[in-house]
Amino acid sequence: MPVNNQESANALPSDAESDGEFNALFAQMLVSAEVLDEQTINSTSRVVQKLGGDQSLFKILEKRGTLSRETFLDCVRSQQPDIPIGALLHQLGAITRGQWKQAEQLRSHSGNLGDIGQILVSKQMLREEQFTEVKAAYSGYQYEEPDIGDCDSVLLKSLPIRLCKLFGFLPIRRVDNGVVVAFESLDRGEARTEAAHCFKTNIEPVLCSGTTLRRAFAAYERQVAPKSEAEQLAAKEGSASAWVSNILKTGIELSASDIHVQPTSDGVRVRFRIDGALRDHQQLPLEQLDAMVSRLKIMAEANIAERRKHQDGRINFEDPETGGITELRASFFITINGEAVVLRVLRNDNRIVELKKLGMGDKILTLFRKEALEAPNGVIIVTGPTGSGKTSTLYSCVQHLNDDTTSIITAEDPVEYQVDGISQCSINAKLGRTYEDSLRFIVRQDPDVIVLGEIRDATSARSAIQASLTGHKVLTTFHAEDTIGTLLRLMYMDIEKFLIASTVSCVLAQRLVRKVCTKCAKQIKPKPSELKQLGWSLDSFHGGNFREGIGCEHCDFTGYKGRIAIFEVLILNAAVRDAILDSNNATDIRRTSQESAGLITLLEHGLVRASRGETSVKEVIRVLPRLSPPRPLMELIRLTGIR
Ligand SMILES: [Zn+2]
Repeated sequence: MPVNNQESANALPSDAESDGEFNALFAQMLVSAEVLDEQTINSTSRVVQKLGGDQSLFKILEKRGTLSRETFLDCVRSQQPDIPIGALLHQLGAITRGQWKQAEQLRSHSGNLGDIGQILVSKQMLREEQFTEVKAAYSGYQYEEPDIGDCDSVLLKSLPIRLCKLFGFLPIRRVDNGVVVAFESLDRGEARTEAAHCFKTNIEPVLCSGTTLRRAFAAYERQVAPKSEAEQLAAKEGSASAWVSNILKTGIELSASDIHVQPTSDGVRVRFRIDGALRDHQQLPLEQLDAMVSRLKIMAEANIAERRKHQDGRINFEDPETGGITELRASFFITINGEAVVLRVLRNDNRIVELKKLGMGDKILTLFRKEALEAPNGVIIVTGPTGSGKTSTLYSCVQHLNDDTTSIITAEDPVEYQVDGISQCSINAKLGRTYEDSLRFIVRQDPDVIVLGEIRDATSARSAIQASLTGHKVLTTFHAEDTIGTLLRLMYMDIEKFLIASTVSCVLAQRLVRKVCTKCAKQIKPKPSELKQLGWSLDSFHGGNFREGIGCEHCDFTGYKGRIAIFEVLILNAAVRDAILDSNNATDIRRTSQESAGLITLLEHGLVRASRGETSVKEVIRVLPRLSPPRPLMELIRLTGIR
């Protein structure tokens, strides 16, 4: 088991130790672990130096799509570099240098008691889960936040729960060589010794946050504890309304996004969706179902006599104790076991950006809507590296399609945005809820639109294509460089060309570029060297208002504030489909797409937005792939409809 250097774990970041030195240490770690080659590291290090200030090597690598957070943390886990944990948190962008210093000062004032993570968490500079994840990697352990529903019930019943509470651990599952157990802390050995003693086998430890453990214990006790007064009353009088009221009240208190009342062959299963995952709440006798559904229908002003059709409704639920009112949207769905009810707890959440505000440009947006999004079927693929905003765009599309006449069902891993009025399912391979499996069931739920979180391999690609062949519109994401690259990667996955050509209706590639700070922007002329890098002649950039930020307090002297998305939209029209069938050649397909389908490349779209002063030419060169020279600016402005 890896051992940490406790002294360095709590070292103060002295002024002599610049960010550069930590960056160099991390660079060394990545190279020696063979995660990245020296050339990539060196070129990135040069960028980091150029950007200067409070820059982290990892954040730049992440933004470039070169290194994911998971891979980076795995590397820390295996390499155990001798650096302070504060440097790691800073590297990950979890805390600023200022917060790090502040936490270290607080720690030294307290006589060096406690660790800096606890201080950061208690001062709300860092979320507990975030710190636990980093601490796990830092100490060489795996990280997991188990839900009581995920835990092996036989293991749970094999020991008194108060013992788990006392030592701060929770058994999750059996594996070939022992039992996976979540610990709040492994700093002292006794919890682990105790767990090994209880299960009489090898312990595979994982770290989880204390809050998760306490939540799991509370949920477990609710499951096994004698029924509450309200429940006893309800059971005695057979009063459906007391059951219903109790369930709604508990669900809302636990911040559930959805409350599921689902009839199964042997009872009524009540579940809550909390933080995107479904959790068992209780199991009720099947005899209760009809009365409960009727009660809910009355509350939702739905037709109580109608038992053969799906219905919708809204409930304004008043908490009998506090008098607080919560709005719920109710959906009654006929299943072979009886009526299933799902209640969506409505909370205001405006994070999803409207499609027309994404900044595609009028012409591209119209093309995308008419030819792809609003077409009755076909696969729409949103592509880009990790952190390029794919999921956010996917949801703008979902939001656009979401109305009372459209049934949208998703399978996601995990559910990142909750949308009112659609059925979202969180994939959990551990519980056997895989993409392929979920998709089989989704198709039986009669959807118009299927959202598949991500195509990861040939199997999920085939699933998406299959769903489209049966007449559904499928929206999904895929990790690829650009639109043409997506088509080629699908071909390399051994997906037959004719299937790709006949089902994929659109590929949308995207990147995020930094936005020029509006407080310190000034007009500039692109440098000849930049034009050369772009492949633009001297007069190609006329008609633009290019800007750069000179740096101010508002933007932390970076010249940039916020990010905007850059798009490349490929519509697969007849000519493009023919090009796919006739050729394996990216250049051919790209040329046909530009000539016949109005394809604007990422680089071209980025340049148009730079010419509007929204981002800089430097940023365009830094982030966007330069596969073919861009067309003259005036032509691009006309083609995109960006004014
Ligand atoms: Zn500024």
